[in-house]
Parts: sequence; C-alpha cells; structure tokens
Amino acid sequence: MSKNIKNSCINEFDSNALDETQALKLILQSITSSMGCETVDIKNALGRVLYQNIKSKINIPSFKNSAMDGYAVNINNLKKNNYSLTQVATSFAGKSYDKKLTPKETVKVMTGALIPSNADAVIMKEMTTSNGKEIKFKRNIKKNQNIRFVGEDIKKSSIVLKKGDAINYINLSILSSIGIKKIKVFKKPVISFFSTGDELISINKKLTKGKIYDSNRYLLHGLLSDLPVIINDMGVVVDKEHVIIKKFKECAKISNLIITTGGVSVGDADYIRDALNKIGKINFWKIAIKPGRPLAYGKISKSFFFGLPGNPVSAAVTFELFVIPAINKILGLKQKIKLIIKAKTISEIKKKKGRVEYKRACLMQNEKGSFVKISGLQGSNILTSLSKANCYIRLSSNVSIVKKNSVVDVIPFSEKI
Ligand code: AMP
Ligand code: MG
Repeated sequence: MSKNIKNSCINEFDSNALDETQALKLILQSITSSMGCETVDIKNALGRVLYQNIKSKINIPSFKNSAMDGYAVNINNLKKNNYSLTQVATSFAGKSYDKKLTPKETVKVMTGALIPSNADAVIMKEMTTSNGKEIKFKRNIKKNQNIRFVGEDIKKSSIVLKKGDAINYINLSILSSIGIKKIKVFKKPVISFFSTGDELISINKKLTKGKIYDSNRYLLHGLLSDLPVIINDMGVVVDKEHVIIKKFKECAKISNLIITTGGVSVGDADYIRDALNKIGKINFWKIAIKPGRPLAYGKISKSFFFGLPGNPVSAAVTFELFVIPAINKILGLKQKIKLIIKAKTISEIKKKKGRVEYKRACLMQNEKGSFVKISGLQGSNILTSLSKANCYIRLSSNVSIVKKNSVVDVIPFSEKI
C-alpha cells in the first residue's frame, strides 16, 4: 500500500465521508500491475490485454487493388481513345494480371484484384457498356477512383495496437490481417471472493427461519466472468473473526485480488475490519454515495483487497465504481471512458443532499430524445429494480429533489448485463 493512501485515509471514526472520485484516485494510485506475460494464439486472446506494442511488418493493402468489380483504366488513354478501350485480360482477387496497360487497353478487375501499375482509375462495371471486347465508358471519371492504395489502412512498421489494449474481435481481425498468429498478453490475475454472514446459506440447502440465500457470490461470479481473470469462489464464511482470518490467509497465498461482501459496517457482527487490522493494511471508508456507503480497501500480503457492503445492490454499485477500475489497473488495461448520456426525467425523483446517488433506472430513446425513469424501489436490498434497470441515473451530492423534465446524467449498463 502506498504511503499516500495510508495518510489520506479517513478512518471509521471520522464522520466525513470520502468523495467517490477521491476514493477511486487513492485506490488507483496504490495499484501497479505486476502481472507477468504469456504467449497465446490469437484465437484464444479475446478479452485479454496486450503486453506488447504490435508493429506491422507489412503494408495493408500490400498491393494496389480494386475496390469494385469493373475496369482498370489510365485516364489519359481513355481521353485519347474517345472513352472506348479494348479489354485485354481479367484480373481476379488472388489470380492477378499484372502487366502495364498499353494506350488502347483496359483490364477487367474484380474487387480485391491487383490492378496494373499504370492504371489510375477503376470504373464500376455498371457504369460501362460493352460490345464484345470493346468497352465504352462515361465521361465523369475522377483520378484514383475506386482504387485501394498500398498502406492506406496500415503502414509498414507502424504500431497498430498498443500495450494495454484489450483484444476485441476487431483487433483479432487486425492481427490476422497482418499475419500475426501469437501475441504476448498479461497473465490472468487470480481473484478470490467469499461472502460473510451467519445468515447466509448456500442455494442447495433448505431455507430456515431468519436465514437468506447467499446471492452475492453469484453476483460477483457474474461480474467477473467476462473479465480475463481466474475466478476463485471461496464460499461462505461465518461472522467470526478467527474464521475470517483463516480464510483471508488461505486466499492471500494464491490471489492477486480478494473480494468479500458483508461485515464492513459498524454492526456487532461486522468482523472484516478486526480481522484485517490483524493481518493486513486496510482503510475503512465511508464513501459519500448511495447505495454503497461502507467500503474497505487495502492489502493482505501481496493481494489487493476490497470489502464490499453486504447489501446486493450496494455490492453491485461499489463493484462497478471501484473494483472494475482496480481490476483494469491490475490487468494492465487502459482505463475506459464511461459513457454518460443526458436524458430527461419522466417523473420527479427524490433525493437528499450530501451524497451522490446512483438510481436504478430505465433509459428510453425515441425520435423526441432520451428519457429516463427510476425502475422501482431504491433500497439497497432491492434487486428487482436493478434487474429491471438498464442504467443508473447519477445525481450529484448537491442535488436535492429532481423535478419532472429535468436533464440528468445517465450511465447505461454495458450491453452484456
Ligand atoms: P452487512 O453488510 O453484513 O451488514 O449486510 C447488509 C445486508 O446485506 C444484510 O441484510 C445482509 O443479510 C445482506 N447480505 C449480506 N451478505 C449477503 C449475501 N451474500 N447475499 C445476500 N444478501 C447479503
Ligand atoms: Mg453481515
């Protein structure tokens, strides 16, 4: 943990809650990615993070070729021959005709086919008429039309992808187009998580009075599944300090990141802080957001640690706000821009001043613009309003009641949710 974090930490007795931006800054400052690299076939690289810059050894296109099915011409020859030329050959994609055009010649070309080096235009087949081998052209021809030039997409020796880029399907296409089969990517970090709470029982057991099913581990599993990480589900742990400590030690041996839910607040059964004070370096923050106020962040041996609140919606929100950027940093990934949309509220929204609120909401877009309404009850235990939502409305700390027809900031959920 960096000195910076330790010093700027607001401890649990401080009534001032920490601003979310400040908390995120402190978290990111403390993380340096120490993940090594491994070489993978590009077919297995989807979602992985590049460990190296990728330079192209070739130009793309690597030869001058046609963007259309048509005829390759030299415009001067065309003018001299009153816009009529003789077809002397056909050049196919992959079966090239590469002789120069003589003054009366044109070559029929297919899309992607190499064109004669002295051709300076390709005319679409549909814009010509033919009488056997004699091809007649119209007069409105522009120099270089329908020609794909060498290196117009990728220049030889240029860097096409950078260290820290995530490999998506577009990048797979780029890598293969320049003939790269294997790449170096950051190794996958191990992320271990467990739920804490005496009330929790696993979903294969019978529900008894006062108990609830543990949903947070499934939430975390879902949130982590799309990331290039190794997921290590460590189960449910009871609210007992020594049991939590034992589990932490077990996790710390193998994990780059440990996440827990529950037990970070000030309740009589909240033991995460006691456990961590004994074996790790931890900051407990009250963050000025709703949902998701209590949050623990720090380190146990070499593992980074997040103690998320137990309420499922608070866990989901704090995961999105703090854990995702932290994982991105561990992964060596460049931080992504968060898409924010302006939308009009369909009805009034209630809020108290003093902390940022993330309201679960539904965003709709039509020809009149973007509109948003809250998706149901907003208690941090209410999962159904999260399930109905497709976005959060972010309301700043100084905002109180938001009137109908006000313009608000909306953060759409990623499509995968
Ligand atoms: P805590 O943060 O431990 O005080 O828990 C806050 C609320 O979240 C309580 O109502 C807990 O029962 C609930 N909760 C804690 N952990 C889980 C979990 N894994 N799954 C579902 N609800 C939970
Ligand atoms: Mg609890």
